[in-house]
Formats: sequence, structure tokens, C-alpha cells
Amino acid sequence: MLSSTTSGKVKPSGFKGLKEKYKKTYRTLTTVTFLWRLVRTATLGFGIYSAGRMVGIAEYAKDPRDMEKQLTRQLLMGCAFEADESGNPKQPELLRLSHPTHKRVEDVGDRIVKAARVLSEAKIKSRLERLKNFKIGKDGDISDRKTIEAELKHWEKNRKMCKGTWTYLVVKSPVPNAFVSDLTPRKIFVHSSIVESLKASDDELAMILGHEISHLLHGHTAQRHRNQMTGNIILLVLLSALDATGLFTLFALPFTNYLQRLMTSANSREHEEEADITGLKIAALACYNTHAGPEIFGKLAKMSGRDGEDAIAGWTDTHPLPMDRLKNLKEKSTEINCDNVGHCHGFLERYMEARRLGMKRHYSESVGHLTKD
Ligand SMILES: [Zn+2]
Repeated sequence: MLSSTTSGKVKPSGFKGLKEKYKKTYRTLTTVTFLWRLVRTATLGFGIYSAGRMVGIAEYAKDPRDMEKQLTRQLLMGCAFEADESGNPKQPELLRLSHPTHKRVEDVGDRIVKAARVLSEAKIKSRLERLKNFKIGKDGDISDRKTIEAELKHWEKNRKMCKGTWTYLVVKSPVPNAFVSDLTPRKIFVHSSIVESLKASDDELAMILGHEISHLLHGHTAQRHRNQMTGNIILLVLLSALDATGLFTLFALPFTNYLQRLMTSANSREHEEEADITGLKIAALACYNTHAGPEIFGKLAKMSGRDGEDAIAGWTDTHPLPMDRLKNLKEKSTEINCDNVGHCHGFLERYMEARRLGMKRHYSESVGHLTKD
């Protein structure tokens, strides 16, 4: 039986009509329940994250030194390359402060940190000048001004970070790598094989350390952690909302790491290029020859498994190095080089600087560089 409406549409009546009506209501109810489950899981996920964050802050506030020690130990465990008797990863040893390799890393590192401070101060100065002369309409709108203000704050924080005491942790490892983490700022981790196996020169070492400190200055590691956390929460919300039985989650678990890497790799290339350019600037400001950059990055890529059968994974796992990145680095190192940095030219300036920092080795190399010119 059919009934007609004023609009001319024929509506089913009787049992069929009732079925259609309940179908519609059922669909609406299912959508509402799904959305409610989504919101509930998201709220729960962010609630757990906020609680964890608060616990972390409270733990840190109680004993910052102990917390930093724990985090450093965790990062060191990430460098493990052999197992102990029970098959667990063995924490690699750190070189003594008096070890010649450690001394070299420290000497170059101190110059790099100082140059990073100089760069931060220059960025602050330029932002202050831009803000002073900023005219709404001519130089941009209010959001452009806010962007400059945010950049100013960012570089002020960087200057503060660079002013503190820096620690170089030289890890005894056959895998060439170097890294930094926002969890332990003012700490640079360098694997001994960079100096001992790759025989990196001071210029090459400066390029590696300049690149690493640039990741800290641009907040790349902090952003990577935030992306990972957001990715985890999104994954948790989606799996909980879509997979009521939990069976799919069970099968999907092995792929979550891959998904996380995919989510964070979106920024990876952009971050590497940004750290390359800032690293070049810092190394040039510290009066190192930046032509060494493509050389050492190429060597690291070779050791990290791109070109050799016996290669070991390491640097390129966290620093992807496509060929165009290397080419770009080569081109930029001609322009961004100590040759074009005023304070690196004078013999007296270099001698005084080297003496002030107590770096006889760098002084002798500086002389060699000047003689060559
Ligand atoms: Zn990098």
C-alpha cells in the first residue's frame, strides 16, 4: 500500500514504511554513537597525555638533575650496539674527559656553541630593528608583526640556551653518529668513530656539530616529539573508535612504528635542509671551512649503508641525505664560508680568539689556512 504526499512523492506506508522510518533512526543513532565514541576517546587520550605531562613536570621540578641523568641514560641506551650476558642492550661507554678524542670534540664544540650564540644575537638584533621600524600596512598586517615578535622570543630563548654550560658526550661506538635532544638541551652526543674511524678533520667535525646544534636552535627535536605524540593520540583515537573488537588493533600493532615514521618524516627533509643552512652559517661564524660539509656528510652516508655492503646503520637513519641535498650543501658552502666572514680574516683576531679559548690546535690550523691563502 502506498500513500502520496502534497509534493507528489510516494511514501511507503504500513510495515514497509515503519521499517524505512526505523532504518533512518537507526542510522542517525549509529552516527551519533560513533561520533560520541570518537569525542570520548579523544578526550580520554588528551586527558591521559595531560596527566602524564603533569607527572613529568612534577618529577622534573622535584629533582631536575636526577631527571636529566635519567633522560641522558635513556638516550645513551639508544646508542647501544652490543648486548650484555642476558641479551639485553648494553649501555655504551663514554670516553673520559681527558681522552684526546673527547678533547677534540670539546674544542670544536666550544667554538660552535659560541658561534651559535653570535648567530642568536644577530637574529635578535634584526628582529628588534624590524619591530622598531614596522609600519602596519606598509610592512604587513598585525599577524606579520606577531610573527616577528614570536621569532624574537624564539631567538631570545636560544641565546639563553647557548649561554649555559654545554656538555659533550663522546660515546664509544663503531657506528658513526651524532645527535641532540630537546629532552637534554646543552648536551651533544657524538660517537667516537666519527673522529677515530672516519678521521674527521676539525672543519668536518665543526660541520657535524653545527648541523646538530641547528636542530636544537630551530626546535626540530621538540617538534618531532610533538608530532610523535600527536600521531600516537590520533592512532589511539581512531583504533578505539573504529575497532570495537580490538582484533584489528592486534594486527595493526606491528605497523604502528612504520606509521609513526611516516607521520614524522613529512617534516624531516625540511628540517634537514634548514639545519644544513644554519649549520653552515654557524661553522663559518666559528671560522671553519664549510667546504668540508659535503665531504663529511658524504662519508657518513657511505658508512650508514647507502653505498657499501658492510655498512652499518647510523647517521642517515635520522638524517636522510638525498643527492640534491648534498649538491645544495656544496653550492651554499661557497657563499657561506669563513672566507666571507669578516672576523675570520685577521691573523691577530684568530690568534687572540684561539688563545682565549685555549685551542692551540685550532690556532695552528688557522695559521696553515692563512698561509695557504
Ligand atoms: Zn640532521
